[in-house]
Amino acid sequence: MISAMAKKVRGVFVFLFLTLFSKAVGDKIFSRVIVPADPAAASFCLSWRLAVEANNVRAWRTVPAQCLRYIENYMIGGQYDLDINLIVEQILIYVKDIVLLEDGMDAWILDVDDTCISNLFYYKGKRYGCDPYDPVGFKSWAMKGACPVIPGVLNLFTTLVEIGFKVFLVTGRDQETLGQVTTENLHNQGFIGYERLIMRSAANKGQSAVVYKSGVRKQLIGEGYRIWGNVGDQWSDLQGECLGNRTFKVPNPMYFVP
Ligand SMILES: [Mg+2]
Repeated sequence: MISAMAKKVRGVFVFLFLTLFSKAVGDKIFSRVIVPADPAAASFCLSWRLAVEANNVRAWRTVPAQCLRYIENYMIGGQYDLDINLIVEQILIYVKDIVLLEDGMDAWILDVDDTCISNLFYYKGKRYGCDPYDPVGFKSWAMKGACPVIPGVLNLFTTLVEIGFKVFLVTGRDQETLGQVTTENLHNQGFIGYERLIMRSAANKGQSAVVYKSGVRKQLIGEGYRIWGNVGDQWSDLQGECLGNRTFKVPNPMYFVP
């Protein structure tokens, strides 16, 4: 009788421990405890993600609701990191053959959000993009300066700087309100040694990303820079004028910037 009671009590303790433990793990943003996606939905969502990355699906506002688990698995289950690393590998193969001149005008352009630093923490709270864009929420997240590095891209950045490229970080973030916090965030995540962080000023207010970023590149070319490469998570980073010798799209299935 006593031993049965003891067993029951022990069972209750084990249950409580597991409940608390799984809650603690589940609360971690980059937790690898993943709910498997429904296989039928996953097939559709793989097609959807591929079409998004190839720019065949455009101007989408939210991730299809049935793809929540699929996108979560993609972003935190390891495949996203593998995809980034493969792209970086390809970029470095291309970089190896570039002969730099001694005038210090060989340049690269990197986008910032979800290229250099990640908004995955924020987007987890937005159901990985199943919820619509929330400008106020995003701004208060950006104000925290807590975006973690995307390691593969930091590796690329460091290599480019070491080789002698002038790296320009170009972002649609607002200079006035987010300038300092973005500079600090990039610095504390290891982005040290870039040539210039270029942000949206009052003069660029209301411009589309394509128009604004084209203007920035045009200006750099006007200053005499040779843009060898341009890396971004949005097609609008990589379209328009003065694109650079090559463009590289890094994945982002969570949101679309027109
Ligand atoms: Mg971006």
